[in-house]
Amino acid sequence: MPLVLVTGATGFIASHTIADLLAHGYHVRGTVRSFAKAADHAALKALPGASERLELLEAQLLDPHGFDKAAEGCDAVLHMASPYVMDVTDPQKDLVDPAVQGTVNLLKSAAQAPSVKRVVVTSSMAAITDEPEADHLLTEADWNTKSSLTRNAYYYSKTMAERAAWSFMDEAKPAFDLVVINPFLVIGPSLTKALNTSNKVFADIVKGQYPAILALTWGFVDVRDVARAHVLALETPSASGRYICAADTVSMRDVVGILREALPSARKLPSFGLDHGFGTSLMRLAALTQPPGVGSYLRSHLGRVPRYDNKKIRTELGLTFRDVRKTIAETANDLVAWGHIKLR
Ligand code: NAP
Repeated sequence: MPLVLVTGATGFIASHTIADLLAHGYHVRGTVRSFAKAADHAALKALPGASERLELLEAQLLDPHGFDKAAEGCDAVLHMASPYVMDVTDPQKDLVDPAVQGTVNLLKSAAQAPSVKRVVVTSSMAAITDEPEADHLLTEADWNTKSSLTRNAYYYSKTMAERAAWSFMDEAKPAFDLVVINPFLVIGPSLTKALNTSNKVFADIVKGQYPAILALTWGFVDVRDVARAHVLALETPSASGRYICAADTVSMRDVVGILREALPSARKLPSFGLDHGFGTSLMRLAALTQPPGVGSYLRSHLGRVPRYDNKKIRTELGLTFRDVRKTIAETANDLVAWGHIKLR
């Protein structure tokens, strides 16, 4: 079976993707930032098939030759390592540099390995838009042109990294082809103890960190479907371009309802509704008092319902999506099981 390199192996999406690859018989080489995070490596090493078919290497995103050794002899590469945090002190250094330089360094290393036939980069819906508009159905033809270092800097890092990947393909013309997956908010049970930024949304709601029900609507996708999408992108010879990877949208009001049902003893779920015109204006003002990452996210998303077309990934890769409402409930229970939510 082919050897697949997965960067950022300890990550939420990467660990599920490695589980999927191992379950389908692949050999996997994962890169980690540091061997010091022994607990997360142990979770990977405990996956079925890992003892025979998973090896881990250290590799740094900012090292120009960081992935040379890792890419050697691989048939395909899944590039997933990238900082996924909303609030940082220095957006250029903490988000954009590792995202962009890491992607280019990875692609350069892959280009030096003649065995690599396909690279799949995990981009994001963040590279498609940071301000969904009600009258516009988003497709793979859309690009986020609004984010910057001071407005939704994480979104900017993902947009710049994906643009850098396509520019590399145009300029360097490597022997492999590039496929990009653009997931929306990825949720689901975690294989490691780490609390992912996307699942943290639910933990924050349950802990009472949202003052009220806001006019927020998220596009969700189950982490196991995102893992499957990446494997299908490797296995489908005709796969090309970008793929929006998102199941359904769910409003915060509905998320709160699902969480209430899944965790009946949760006491701090918001019940007061500010998900109307006046509430949205009020919250846009209140967002000015939030840290920059959270504040710019709220200002560009409050009162906006994303509309997107996920037909390309369903028809070209044959991906089917789980019911994200069930995933939200499952995630809530998983957050309790890992100790991220304490109900008593
Ligand atoms: P995650 O759990 O935080 O995983 C990110 C991975 O990247 C981790 O392995 C992390 O290593 C590594 N990483 C981060 N910064 C790094 C740095 N400066 N140097 C080296 N490694 C670094 O997040 P995830 O949700 O699985 O994200 C995986 C990919 O999917 C990312 O590219 C993210 O942008 C993208 N994505 C995520 C979502 C979502 O909703 N979760 C949606 C769309 C796209 P450590 O474990 O050592 O920190």
